[in-house]
Amino acid sequence: MYGAFKEHAADELRGIDEAGLTKGELGIRGAQGPRIRVAGADAGDGTAPGEREMLNFCANDYLGLADDPRLVAAAKDALDEWGYGLASVRFICGTQTQHLDLERRLARFLGVDDAILFSSCFDANGGVFETLFGAEDAIISDALNHASLIDGIRLSKARRLRYANGDLAELEARLREAADARFRVIVTDGVFSMDGAIAPLEAICDLAEQYGALVLVDDSHAVGFLGAHGRGTPELRGVEGRIDLLTGTFGKALGGASGGYVAGHREVIALLRQRARPYLFSNTLSPAIVAGTLTALDIAEGAHDARERLVANAARFRSAMEAEGFELLPGEHPIVPVMFRDAVLTQRVAEGMRSRDVFVTAFSYPVVPKGEARIRVQLSAAHTPEQIDACVAAFVAAREDVAGD
Ligand SMILES: *Cc1c(COP(=O)(O)O)cnc(C)c1O
Repeated sequence: MYGAFKEHAADELRGIDEAGLTKGELGIRGAQGPRIRVAGADAGDGTAPGEREMLNFCANDYLGLADDPRLVAAAKDALDEWGYGLASVRFICGTQTQHLDLERRLARFLGVDDAILFSSCFDANGGVFETLFGAEDAIISDALNHASLIDGIRLSKARRLRYANGDLAELEARLREAADARFRVIVTDGVFSMDGAIAPLEAICDLAEQYGALVLVDDSHAVGFLGAHGRGTPELRGVEGRIDLLTGTFGKALGGASGGYVAGHREVIALLRQRARPYLFSNTLSPAIVAGTLTALDIAEGAHDARERLVANAARFRSAMEAEGFELLPGEHPIVPVMFRDAVLTQRVAEGMRSRDVFVTAFSYPVVPKGEARIRVQLSAAHTPEQIDACVAAFVAAREDVAGD
């Protein structure tokens, strides 16, 4: 039976490879952080691939918590106190009091009524739309929204409308088009991860109020570090209390392990608990991660110094790169896209960076539009000024390599 399908799969793989779209994975030995040990890197000189240290500029570890000893200790203690796993979904036998604590703690952190945990933000986005919206409703979605929002929206029977990234005139046109819908909901990422652009939430909330629409923001690339208290893009943009639904991940700034949530109005969260399929039919978050995330929230709440360091690190990188004549997309987020535009050139610069032990990733079509290939640099509060300067120096050297050919 397998024969023909094997051919088919091999053909698909060949096609991906010939298009230059094969995604490799670097094997990290040890913990995530600004310095990583990398296995099996081939020095290209015939010697056995060994292990080397690299500077890391492509993790979502914005607050540097992924290997924080306080999180590690909390997770270890939780293994002793709460065990390894729950072996159940929440409503059958899978709720520990610490799961309830985390939901209350998260709601308090975000300044909303309530929150519900999912195994990932991908699952949160997969469950929220189908549960809340039906064929009479309209979901109006930013064109650059995360894949999990797109997939989650597809699972609902609601009418789907799209507006160009951050285009408020188009958003308003879609709101008018959907005037006959029972409910309308505007859906946007808080931060668009390929650009580091922040959604125009104030104008979105104004339009939502004008047209009687709900607003859902996926704040995965913001929760914990944007805004004076780390409450994310609503805090940064001064629209707290005007967002109906927040989704987000624990897999980035808040410790970087895994888990996601939907947060917002009491009744909506209660309804999700009754009907959201990834909540009802998928295992509970593991005890160690719940404990680690509780600690991450405590740290994030008071992490004013780390947030200031993160802002300073992004500013240091931006100004040094601009002084060296690199083209950056403008912005205020610790995602800093360095534009090379040509896909092959971008790939070669990234390789040059990695050969200098600086780990960065090139993004080209179809992840970003054609002719907009880039290296996306992500700063962390855990980077030192020296590490940032080394990254800039590697960019300069890698650019020289490419120019010399
Ligand atoms: C990373 C990310 C997700 C996925 O989060 P997981 O918890 O890893 O599933 C969802 N939405 C956005 C906007 C993200 O950036």
